[in-house]
Amino acid sequence: MTILRPEQERIKQSTREFVARNIIPRAAEFDRSGEFHPYLLDEARESKIFAMAVPKEYGGLDYDSVTQALVLEEWGYGCAGMGTTLAASILSMDSVLVAGTDEQKRRYFTPMLSARIGAFGLTEPGAGSDAGSGKTTAVKAGDDYLLNGSKCWITNGAVATVYVIYALTDPSKGVKGLSAFIVERDRPGFTIGTVDHKLGIRSSNTSELLLKDVRIPAANLLGKEGDGMKIAMKTLDLARPAIAALSVGLAQRALDECVKHLQKRFPDKPQPGQTLQFKLADMAIQVEAARQSLHHTMELRDSGAPFSKESAISKTFCSDVAMSVTAQAVSLMGSHGYTSELGKYMRDSKIMQIYEGTNQIQRLVISRAVLTPAPAAVSTLKAGE
Ligand SMILES: Cc1cc2nc3c(=O)[nH]c(=O)nc-3n(C[C@H](O)[C@H](O)[C@H](O)COP(=O)(O)OP(=O)(O)OC[C@H]3O[C@@H](n4cnc5c(N)ncnc54)[C@H](O)[C@@H]3O)c2cc1C
Repeated sequence: MTILRPEQERIKQSTREFVARNIIPRAAEFDRSGEFHPYLLDEARESKIFAMAVPKEYGGLDYDSVTQALVLEEWGYGCAGMGTTLAASILSMDSVLVAGTDEQKRRYFTPMLSARIGAFGLTEPGAGSDAGSGKTTAVKAGDDYLLNGSKCWITNGAVATVYVIYALTDPSKGVKGLSAFIVERDRPGFTIGTVDHKLGIRSSNTSELLLKDVRIPAANLLGKEGDGMKIAMKTLDLARPAIAALSVGLAQRALDECVKHLQKRFPDKPQPGQTLQFKLADMAIQVEAARQSLHHTMELRDSGAPFSKESAISKTFCSDVAMSVTAQAVSLMGSHGYTSELGKYMRDSKIMQIYEGTNQIQRLVISRAVLTPAPAAVSTLKAGE
């Protein structure tokens, strides 16, 4: 178990109370209707939780990485769809944190202080795992850029105020011609296409974005032309642990609900039979190991040490755990599992293995890191020792 500081305990507890009051009671309703939940933004305004990753100098809460993970775990526990809304907004902010100027950060982060949200637009119909093969372009026009193209499956797409959009400034250079831009919602020519119906995280909004001659000032370019892929990769390194945190919350919730059910289902026995006990123990082991992998990544992130491999490991491990534990919980609860809200946790878990880079792609990243020889350690041993 990570030993939390008193301030982290306090934030975890107050988040748990917020989730119990505002998220858990309405999660099933929004799952059924597949609707986004603007009420939640109103509820969250006072706590400034949508600005938890915004640095102090821009008026945000400036939570350290472990604390952000604690908050996201609680939101994932309550409803992974609503948790995804928060995580995706932070994902878009991460691009600005990575490459934004002081003025761009102030501009992008200010709406988050009053619970407005952002979106991150990288994926296109022909460019998912291979993010560099997108077709959206940004052509220089005097002091402006004109953006044309489309993005698909963008979380918060229809409900964000500000966006980070990736587009090719030089298509002839392929991935080296990709650049990142801040795009405000109210720019003429920027419209919302299809809003997606989904298997899980149904309370989050996922939409297509259409860009037709969207004019934005050159001041909205993040970094330099051609920096896009570098910014996107650094952004995803920073952001993947958020998916790990939602996954831990999902797995913990499924375990807790399963335990509650089994205690009711077998009231005559102080404990269910040994087979069930062992299965519950294995689920608890997985949840705790997932949480530790996540916290380790977050501690590395705050220490300034490299954490790209650990970010991929924790995203992959925690989401695989969420899938496995939620499916196991359904099995252990029999038909009650299949017909109750447990099914939602299983459906919500699936996307954790897909978005922000599929777990197959993460395994490529991890294997590359494992296969790359680490720099030779300086040995203090003398010959013969
Ligand atoms: C609900 C939801 C929300 C999303 N939110 C966002 C968002 O906010 N912003 C955004 O930009 N995108 C978002 N996405 C898109 C998501 O990140 C991509 O869908 C994902 O990266 C996978 O891309 P793809 O669907 O095109 O799959 P593909 O790239 O077509 O992959 C299909 C399968 O092939 C495997 N595969 C592909 N290439 C390789 C390879 N080289 N080696 C081994 N296996 C491989 C993949 O792992 C996968 O199993 C979202 C998607 C969904 C469904």
